[in-house]
Amino acid sequence: MYCPYCGEKLALVLHDQEGLIPYCKNCGEYRFPQFATAVSMVVTNRAKDKIMLAKHKGQDDYILIAGYIKKGETAEKTVTREFREETKLNVVKYKYMSSRYHESHNVLMLNFLVIAENGEPVIDQAELEEVMWFSPEEALEHIRKDSDAEHFLKNALPELKNKF
Ligand SMILES: [Zn+2]
Repeated sequence: MYCPYCGEKLALVLHDQEGLIPYCKNCGEYRFPQFATAVSMVVTNRAKDKIMLAKHKGQDDYILIAGYIKKGETAEKTVTREFREETKLNVVKYKYMSSRYHESHNVLMLNFLVIAENGEPVIDQAELEEVMWFSPEEALEHIRKDSDAEHFLKNALPELKNKF
């Protein structure tokens, strides 16, 4: 690990409250590890009886619609922007659900439950192969197994019965 500001090799130094934290002795500053942040969306329709899943090019199984948060952007803004970019549909309502750190991509995923406006999604063909509406049971069958998407979907489905 190297200092992102000066390039000095970082050493783990005991921080009063945080335990062992990478420290740059050149800058005299703790350098907390950096990671990306992204939103992931469990998208439902107004009737809350369908779930939208996406399939990426070259993949067999489905995942949730997701996207990186741009620097300076709020997670809430990313939800509405990213969903519109990927489906050409608008977000009617959203609610934050939970988060999970994804090690291999070094990204903290923030999961939202999203109600989309009625209509057929028009996808960005450069990124996605297909976006489809499923019943909640079908969505559980088709979602990528042991993925963050599956974890978030299972967590969000009981919430469909509640008003939000
Ligand atoms: Zn430094």
